Amino acid sequence: MQIDKKDIRALSKIQLRDFFVANGDKSFRGNQVYEWLWSKGAHSFEDMTNVSKATREMLENNFVINHIKVDTMQRSEDGTVKNAVRLHDGLVVESVLIPTNTRTTACVSSQVGCSLDCNFCATARLKRMRNLEPAEIYDQVIAIDKESRLYYNHPLSNIVFMGMGEPLMNYNNVMKAIEMITSNEGLGMSPKRITVSTSGVPKMIKKLADDDVKFNLAVSLHSAIDEIRSRIMPFSESFPLAELRESLEYWYKKTKSKISFEYVVWKGINDDKASIDALVKYCKYVPCKVNLIEYNPIDDGEFQQASQESINEYIKALEAAGIVVKVRRSRGKDIDAACGQLANKEA
Ligand code: SAH
Repeated sequence: MQIDKKDIRALSKIQLRDFFVANGDKSFRGNQVYEWLWSKGAHSFEDMTNVSKATREMLENNFVINHIKVDTMQRSEDGTVKNAVRLHDGLVVESVLIPTNTRTTACVSSQVGCSLDCNFCATARLKRMRNLEPAEIYDQVIAIDKESRLYYNHPLSNIVFMGMGEPLMNYNNVMKAIEMITSNEGLGMSPKRITVSTSGVPKMIKKLADDDVKFNLAVSLHSAIDEIRSRIMPFSESFPLAELRESLEYWYKKTKSKISFEYVVWKGINDDKASIDALVKYCKYVPCKVNLIEYNPIDDGEFQQASQESINEYIKALEAAGIVVKVRRSRGKDIDAACGQLANKEA
């Protein structure tokens, strides 16, 4: 009878050391294998060349390594790379490498599909199929790091959790993945180079603050008026802006780290003066900067990018209030790799 073998990367280092001791080996063997699994990114037990054949066979009999597989890789004319990533159970997620002159950023997924229902986002149409495991998130980063070295001659410099899914609805696994990414036993990357983006789940934002995390937080705001926000992001009806604001104030008090608001301006939705005033007011409560992001159409007539004049009005009002505002141009649009476009079209 075929027994379902456990993914060896679900074991902590201590558990792995204990496993070897229980099997009559030295605990040191656990360290060796752990290093292969994480910092050396082994895809199979065979890769572990300094481990004896007998040990490798023993591992093979007891465990699997559910490594991701990059199924297809598309390269945009602007240099953006999109990976369609096949998981061990056949499901697919996408991750993106975004190069600039000075750095490369990995945009990674945290769920297959998404728990939330933002009307302007292609990923929301997929619904949530399951959460990604810590190793599946980690593997996406490793794959992009390799591509960064190959195409841009330097290691990955930043990571944003802005791919598929809502990271705070897969809290523990995202935290574990970040722990490995930042640990010297993994990638050893500084948490300052990592940004977790959330649609805004107040309870979980407070939990992040309580857990004393050192990475950056971005919130997809899109409107500072409850009626509008809950129309375009229906889940947010359960999380009114006042409650979100309170959680962000809590975050800042604990972490002293400024929040980035992601904000798209759409024609006839939030391009009016009341919307601008509401955003400026909201930003006064929470130390933040605002990223105005370009809308990437997803075949939905309801949403259209606002005019440049409306965007200029936002910039003028925010700057006048002393709030840092940046306009973010889309990257990788030609290969459906831009914000909100990840929808497994090729899979
Ligand atoms: N669920 C998290 C992580 C996804 S990040 C979050 O919402 O923050 C993806 C970002 O792209 C979010 O800021 C989202 O609001 C934005 N986005 C979604 N659809 C978009 C679209 N069609 N054009 C531009 N940005 C979009």
